[in-house]
Amino acid sequence: MNFDKSENLYNEAKTLIPGGVSSPVRAIKPFPFYTASANGSKIYDEDGNAFIDYCMAYGPMILGHNPPAIRQAIENQLDKGWLYGTPSALEVEMATRIADLYPSIDMMRFVSSGSEATMSALRLARGFTKKNKIIKIEGGFHGAHDAVLVKAGSGATTHGEPNSPGIPASVTEHTLQVAYNDIEQMTDVIEKNKNDLAAVILEPVMGNVGPVLPKDGYLQEVRKLTAENDVLLIFDEVITGFRLAPGGASEYFGIKPDLTTLGKIAGGGMPIGIFGGRKDIMEMISPNGPVYQAGTFSGSPCSMSAGIAVLDYLKENKVQETLNKRGDAFRKMLSDVVSDKKPDYSVGGLSSLFVIFFGGKPMNYQDVLKCDAAKYMEFFHKMLNSGVFLPPSQFETNFISLAHTDEDFSKTAEAVEKNLV
Ligand code: PLP
Repeated sequence: MNFDKSENLYNEAKTLIPGGVSSPVRAIKPFPFYTASANGSKIYDEDGNAFIDYCMAYGPMILGHNPPAIRQAIENQLDKGWLYGTPSALEVEMATRIADLYPSIDMMRFVSSGSEATMSALRLARGFTKKNKIIKIEGGFHGAHDAVLVKAGSGATTHGEPNSPGIPASVTEHTLQVAYNDIEQMTDVIEKNKNDLAAVILEPVMGNVGPVLPKDGYLQEVRKLTAENDVLLIFDEVITGFRLAPGGASEYFGIKPDLTTLGKIAGGGMPIGIFGGRKDIMEMISPNGPVYQAGTFSGSPCSMSAGIAVLDYLKENKVQETLNKRGDAFRKMLSDVVSDKKPDYSVGGLSSLFVIFFGGKPMNYQDVLKCDAAKYMEFFHKMLNSGVFLPPSQFETNFISLAHTDEDFSKTAEAVEKNLV
């Protein structure tokens, strides 16, 4: 494959944009391909190469790229203007749909990204409980804001150390970390800190280290423990929301968290974040309560229109049901290839999420770190040259969309068979 135009663009971009990219995960070495367009399950670069896309913009594009129903909704909105700075009926329509799908969400607020949603939900949890500490899961990702940008310390439960220069330790000292799927450690840390512990925030299925699934009963135990100790439970459903089931992981696992954060799919590909939950907690948000939160682009009419269109499409066409079955079939197809060629690797995931783990069957972050990330990158490049775009990191999730065809799946399985290292 020829990547000359992408290479030239990268050389220009890197003089103006750090790393030549607007978000670090896009920085493929030696240079990323620059996208010209995307349609259905395919993404096309500036050199005219086509790839079957399993990044799917890191999750939002559940119907594939450029789906007519969503495009039409955005086009219709453009005729009416795309930013008002006032409330609109669209927010009410969108909120009604979300409250129907998520019984734990009595009230919600719209923001412009998943990061803003988790940042606001954590501030709200602290404001409501008047406590400072939070527990996050080691390796869990909740966006790039200060309180959650914390790597594990030497012991998993030590006070958080900032993951990036520029974050004062005084900000992250309130962020405790525990290993996913370890209920004993969670119990211990909750019990020791409950007097100053505002919330536990977790991705019900870890999505930012490949999909790692909860052990049977783990999430139920976390729900019970948090309730018993007066600690709020925040489900970060930015990836799982509207994907695992119409009501996301909450419906799939039958759990009612106190607060939920949503994003990605909810905006049909337009920027969005949502946080919502119990009425008594949400009423603490300004202007009803003292916890401040605001945004120029919040409830953006285009995001609302695209969001309403995608939620209606998902409902009318029972998309999650179809995709969950297709995901099972595709993971089985990949597993057959992987177990044959590399019995020490595994295929993980559920619903429309999948990953090939280059080592073992990880149950938490430390397990994932044992995978051979360098080998994965070798595989990534070979797959790209075979016309398949996987996430450029072992620690990311692959997404299938409604636009992926049986032919895409068989071509991908053949490419995996050829390229697995
Ligand atoms: N929470 C989770 C679970 C995510 O996966 C992400 C992004 O990938 C975020 C929050 C942050 O969302 P955004 O990138 O829209 O700020």
